[in-house]
Amino acid sequence: MTWIMIWRRDAIPDPPAKKGPEALAFIKEKTKNMIEPFRSQVAWTPDDETRASCYIDEMHTWTPIPWKTPGGRVSLAGDAAHPMLVYRGQGFQHAVVDAENYVAALISVRDKGVEREQAIKTYTDEVVERGAKAVTQSLKEAELSMDVESVGKMMMAKQGHSKAA
Ligand SMILES: Cc1cc2nc3c(=O)[nH]c(=O)nc-3n(C[C@H](O)[C@H](O)[C@H](O)COP(=O)(O)OP(=O)(O)OC[C@H]3O[C@@H](n4cnc5c(N)ncnc54)[C@H](O)[C@@H]3O)c2cc1C
Repeated sequence: MTWIMIWRRDAIPDPPAKKGPEALAFIKEKTKNMIEPFRSQVAWTPDDETRASCYIDEMHTWTPIPWKTPGGRVSLAGDAAHPMLVYRGQGFQHAVVDAENYVAALISVRDKGVEREQAIKTYTDEVVERGAKAVTQSLKEAELSMDVESVGKMMMAKQGHSKAA
């Protein structure tokens, strides 16, 4: 069984360790007043490292801006192109769209005589525009999710995982 706890970096002081029993003890302390069943879920996690693992990491994100695609030989896709926070649940979906569009670009080079450089530039421009929109949405979703008053305004609450950007 796996559980994930997410918090704003400025809401809780930095943990004493990023993994192991010290990290778990830190999380248990920070969740001791949490509503059930979540409190027990964390509290019952065995302290014994051979029976349970605890890792603390930081989620990273950036808004894509156009990158070089020398001769149409290199571009980016998925999280490499547009790493986004998890709150809108769209990262994998965009990675799949990227892959589909990339293949379509290569096919246009092979079957329609489109210049490789132009095909990859067109692919990349679209990834940047769509990715930037999705990253911005995920940041907004994260903000809304942090307050019980605004959580109902999240796109995730109103339309779930459906395609948006
Ligand atoms: C907790 C969580 C929940 C999520 N929920 C959702 C969701 O509900 N819906 C959704 O659409 N998305 C969700 N995502 C986002 C989704 O998982 C990512 O957007 C997606 O996996 C990105 O795919 P990718 O192929 O670009 O990158 P990855 O899946 O990260 O694949 C990159 C691969 O490259 C490998 N690799 C790295 N370096 C090297 C190297 N030097 N040599 C060889 N291989 C290497 C890695 O091991 C990895 O297997 C979630 C993410 C997280 C963390």
